[in-house]
Amino acid sequence: MRLVRRAKYSNIFLHLIMHAGATLCFFIRPSYDAITLAITLYVVTGGLGWSVGIHRGLIHNSFSTYRFMENILAVLGTLSGLGGPISSSRTHFLRDFCQSSPEFTTTSLPSSFWRNYLDLPFFWEMTLEPAPPDRVSELLEKRWFFRLLENRWLATGLMAALLYTLGGLVYLAWGLCARVVLTVNLFAIFDFYCHSHKHGSQRFEIEGASCGGRNVWLVALLTFGEGWHNNHHAMPSSPRMGIGEIEIDIGYSIIQIMHRCGLAWNLIKPNEALKPTARQI
Ligand SMILES: [Zn+2]
Ligand SMILES: [Zn+2]
Repeated sequence: MRLVRRAKYSNIFLHLIMHAGATLCFFIRPSYDAITLAITLYVVTGGLGWSVGIHRGLIHNSFSTYRFMENILAVLGTLSGLGGPISSSRTHFLRDFCQSSPEFTTTSLPSSFWRNYLDLPFFWEMTLEPAPPDRVSELLEKRWFFRLLENRWLATGLMAALLYTLGGLVYLAWGLCARVVLTVNLFAIFDFYCHSHKHGSQRFEIEGASCGGRNVWLVALLTFGEGWHNNHHAMPSSPRMGIGEIEIDIGYSIIQIMHRCGLAWNLIKPNEALKPTARQI
C-alpha cells in the first residue's frame, strides 16, 4: 500500500491570505469587542463546531443528535478553518489508518515541528493506493449540504462579508483572519505534540499501532479536550476524551449540556469504546 499526496494549492493560498489578514491586527487599533468576538468564535467554531460536531459527532458517531443539529454544527465546524465534514473525515480516516498500522512509522511519527507543519493534511490531498474502504466519508459525501460546505472559499467569503458588515475591518481582522490563524496553528501544535514520542504521557498501549497518540494536558486545555489524544486513539468512538478526574475536556462538557437539553443521546461510554488492541499501561 502506497501513500500518494497532491498539494492543495487552494488551501495553501487561503492559509497565506488568512496570515496576511491577521497581520492587520498589528496596524488597526484593537477593540475589546473584536477580541471578545474572536475568542467566542474560536470556542463556537473550533470547540462546538469542529471538535464536537465534526470530529466526535460525524466522524466517530460517538453520540446521536438531530439532523438539523448535525448541519448547524457542521457549518460552525467548517467556519473554524480546519476543513469541512467530508475533507476532515477523509483526512482523519487516512491518518488513523496509517497510525493504526505498523507499516507507516515515518508518516505517523513527526520528526520535527516544522516538518510536521509542512506535512499537515490541511495542505495535501492524501490517498492510499489501493484505497481501503472509508465508509464514514462515503456516507457524508452523499449529503448535498456537506458537499456544499466543502467549498471553503464560499464559507470563508460569507463569514468575511458578515463580519465586515457588523464591525468593519477590525471585526474582519480579529474575528476571521486572526481567529482562523490561531485555530489552524493551535491544531498544528496539537498534531505535533500529541503524536510525538517525546512529549506528554500515555495511559494505553495500542498493539500493532505505529502511533498511539499522547496525552498533553496544556494542548488538551487549548483544544477543547482533543489533547487527551492517547485516550482518543484507544477509545476513538467515546465522546469523552479526558477520562481521568482532572482531565478537563471542554468538548465533552458541551456534549453533556447538549444531552441535558435533549440535543444529544446514545452517548457511547469510554469502556464500550475501548479498542480490543488497547491495553492500559
Ligand atoms: Zn492521532
Ligand atoms: Zn478521531
